[in-house]
Amino acid sequence: MLNPMEMAKDIVVNGVIPDDERVWVPQAENVWFRPLCLSTRQGYWVNLLRVRKSGILSRHRHPAPVHGYVIEGKWHYLEHDWMATAGSYVFEPPGETHTLTVPADVPQMITLFHITGAMIYVDEAGKVTAYEDVFAKIEMCRKHYIACGLGAEFVDQFIR
Ligand code: FE
Repeated sequence: MLNPMEMAKDIVVNGVIPDDERVWVPQAENVWFRPLCLSTRQGYWVNLLRVRKSGILSRHRHPAPVHGYVIEGKWHYLEHDWMATAGSYVFEPPGETHTLTVPADVPQMITLFHITGAMIYVDEAGKVTAYEDVFAKIEMCRKHYIACGLGAEFVDQFIR
């Protein structure tokens, strides 16, 4: 046997941007995510984030690094003066608090994010209001996939 018994199964997602709209999991108004890899062993997740019509991803902070690759459209953080355009790579350092915003003239943005640890939602004073870790993302997926008819087990293909 060439591979170790304990090795996780690989994942191949053909059509990262899905034809089936139901694959997108609602996150907030005008905000959805599409799971690709949900790592319960290492506590990270890889997903596409889609934001339409000047949507906002609430102010949040990360305890661990985030890497992003912008596939379509553009977005920025209220706290920075740069713009992440299609083709851009973004590194979000642990400890930073930011609010992701899509300009009004951008109909849709899609970005691939690799998020380790959690999204920690905070208020203006930096007080924690909510958080999402990989387990919360899995629960969001399950709930949505049950409701839309894809079935609870649809999310299992992304979990490692
Ligand atoms: Fe972030």
